[in-house]
Amino acid sequence: MIRWSSWYIHTTREIPADAEVVSHQLMVRAGMTRKVAAGIYSYLPLGWRSLRKLMDIVRREMDAAGAVELAMPAVQPAELWVESGRWQKYGKELLRIRDRHDREFCFGPTHEEVVTDIVRRDVKSYRQLPFNLYQIQTKFRDEIRPRFGWMRGREFLMKDAYSFHAAPESLDATYEAMDAAYRRVFEACRLEYTVVEADTGTIGGSSSHEFMVTAATGESAVVHCPACGYGANQEKAERAAWPSVGAAAPPPLERVPTPGRTTIADVSALLGVPADGLVKTLIYETDRGELVVAVVRGDREINEVKLQNAVPDALHLRLAPEERVREITGAPAGFAGPVGLRGAAILLADLSTREMRGFACGANEADAHLVNVDWQRDAAAFAGAARWLDLVTVGEGDPCPRCGEALAVVRGIEVGHIFKLGDRYSRAMQCTFTDEAGAEQPMIMGCYGLGIGRTLAAAIEQNHDADGIIWPLPLAPFSVLVVSLTPKDPESARAAEALATSLGARGLDVLLDDRDERPGVKFKDADLIGIPVRAVVGGKSFAAGSIELSLRRDREKVAVPVGEAEARLLDLVDRLR
Ligand code: ATP
Ligand code: MG
Repeated sequence: MIRWSSWYIHTTREIPADAEVVSHQLMVRAGMTRKVAAGIYSYLPLGWRSLRKLMDIVRREMDAAGAVELAMPAVQPAELWVESGRWQKYGKELLRIRDRHDREFCFGPTHEEVVTDIVRRDVKSYRQLPFNLYQIQTKFRDEIRPRFGWMRGREFLMKDAYSFHAAPESLDATYEAMDAAYRRVFEACRLEYTVVEADTGTIGGSSSHEFMVTAATGESAVVHCPACGYGANQEKAERAAWPSVGAAAPPPLERVPTPGRTTIADVSALLGVPADGLVKTLIYETDRGELVVAVVRGDREINEVKLQNAVPDALHLRLAPEERVREITGAPAGFAGPVGLRGAAILLADLSTREMRGFACGANEADAHLVNVDWQRDAAAFAGAARWLDLVTVGEGDPCPRCGEALAVVRGIEVGHIFKLGDRYSRAMQCTFTDEAGAEQPMIMGCYGLGIGRTLAAAIEQNHDADGIIWPLPLAPFSVLVVSLTPKDPESARAAEALATSLGARGLDVLLDDRDERPGVKFKDADLIGIPVRAVVGGKSFAAGSIELSLRRDREKVAVPVGEAEARLLDLVDRLR
C-alpha cells in the first residue's frame, strides 16, 4: 500500500501548450511524465508504474512464446551500420555521435545490426537454430516532428525481438507465434485493436503486419473488413477486382475544347462526364530525372506509397515541374492524357482504369480533352507499354479483396510491428550457418517491435473522458484508490488506512489518498489519474457505517457496510482483470 502524502504525484490543471492530443495532455496533467526536451521525457513514478505493468505483460507473453530476453547497448559503433549499409541510408533520424577519440557512434534507433553481430560470432550450425532474442530498451530516433508525448518521442522504450532461422518455414512459425503473442498482449491490456497487413516498402521483406490500437485520434488510417476481418494499412490495402463497364465499342474519339479547365471537377462539369468516366493522368519525376506517367480513374486518389513501390529503382518520386510536363505532353499542366505522349517515360496504369471504355482524358494539348477514348482502339501504345497495377488508396465502401463485402476505414495508432526480414541483414553482415548438407548460408531473420510508451498513450486515447484517464485495470498504476475523505477525523482516517492495508495484504496495488486536502481536490485528482476502482471513506456515509465504492468508468456509487467493503472491492477488481 502506498500513501499519496509520502509518494510523488503532482497533478496540474494546466494543459501544456505543446500537448495536441488528449493522452499527452492527461499524462502531463496527471503527473505521469514531464518533458525534458522536445521528444524527451522523464517517466514520473505514476507513469513508470503503468509502464512496468505493461512491460510485465509483454515479458510474460514473450517468454511464453519462447523468446529469450537480453539487453543490448543504446550506443552502437558506426562500423556495424556501415556493414549493413544503413549508415548512409538511415538519414537524419539516426543520431550520430563521436567519442573522445573521434570515433563515430550512433544512439540506436533499432538493433538489427547489434543483434546480428552477436549472433554471427556465436552461432555456426543449423543445429543451433532457431531462436528469438528480445529486449525492452531505450531507443533514440531523431524524429522530424516529435509530438503527441510518448506517442512519437525521440527517446522512447521499445520491446524489440529478432529471430534467426535456417529455413523460411521456421521463420513462418516464429512469425505466427509472435503474432499470437502480440494479440495476447493487447488483449491482456484490455485494448481494442486490429491487425493489418503493412507495406514492406523498399526493405523488401516478404511479410509485415502492424498492430493498431483503434482511436479516433490515430495517426494512421487503416482499412478493415467488418465481415471477414481482413485488414491492411492504407499503403497496402487492396480491393476486389474492378467491375468491367460497357462491352460495346464507344463512338469515335473526339477532341473537345476545355479552355482553362484543369481540374477533374471542372472538366467533369463541362463535359457532362462523371468523375468515374474520366482518366486522370499524373506526371512525376524520379531523382535520376526519369519521367513517370501514372493514370488512375478520375474519382480516385493515387497512393504515393504504392506509386513509389511501383518504381523500385527510383530513390524518390515527386510531382514533375511544369517544364517537364510540357516536355512529355506538349501542353501546360492539367491537360495530360495517355494518348499521344511525346517522349520516353515509365508508364503506370491503375487497375481502376483497365475496364473503362469510352472515357475522357486530357488531350496533351492546351485547353483540350478527349472523349470516347478506347484503350485498344485509341490508346494502344500506352495500354501496351504500361504496367497495370494497384495504385490508388482504397477507402470506405470499396469491396473487400477477400470476401467482397464493403470495407471500412478506421483510425488507429500503430503500437506493434512484426516483419519478416529474410536475409537482408545476415547477408550484408555475413551472419551465416552451415546447413545439413554442409553448405554455408545466410540466416533468415524476423523482427518484432512493440512500442511500450506508445501503447500506454494509445490506451489513454482509447480510455478517457472529460475529467481524466480511465485506466484499463491491467495497465493502471494502482488497482484501487482508497480516498480518506476526512483525514482529520481519526476514526475514518483509521478505517481508510485499515482498508488500504488489508487490500494491500491481499496482493492488490492500493493507493491511499491520505492528503490533507479538500474533498473536491481529491475527487478531481482521482478522476484525473484514473485508478479504476475507488473507495471513499469518511463524511456522512462513514458516519452512517458505510464506505462508498465506485468504478472510474461510470462513477456510480454504491454504499456498502464498512465490514463488507474489502470483499466487494476484491470482487470489483476481479471483474476488471
Ligand atoms: P512510425 O511509422 O510510427 O514511425 P515505425 O514504423 O518507425 O513507426 P518501427 O520501427 O516498426 O516503427 O518500431 C516498432 C514500434 O516502436 C512501433 O510500432 C511503435 O509502437 C514504436 N515506435 C516507433 N517510433 C516511435 C516513436 N518515435 N515514439 C514512440 N514509439 C515509437
Ligand atoms: Mg518511424
